[in-house]
Amino acid sequence: TYIIAEPCVDVLDKACIEECPVDCIYEGGRMLYIHPDECVDCGACEPVCPVEAIFYEDDTPDQWSGYVNANVDFFDEL
Ligand code: SF4
Repeated sequence: TYIIAEPCVDVLDKACIEECPVDCIYEGGRMLYIHPDECVDCGACEPVCPVEAIFYEDDTPDQWSGYVNANVDFFDEL
């Protein structure tokens, strides 16, 4: 799955939402989150993010590794 990390906080550009073919990117408070079970790993969202907040989970920079679980937890808590 792809995930959204810290650069999205308080930005929420939403260009990614326009690109996602399965509508699995959701707004939640101060950032957007990708539903890990709905994402089909197409990668379409990654290049359109103006702040480069989107990463394939295994390619997430170390300083934002906590955001991998943050995306999962967001949907677990709904
Ligand atoms: Fe949506 Fe594709 Fe991005 Fe997954 S990788 S969130 S399916 S646009």
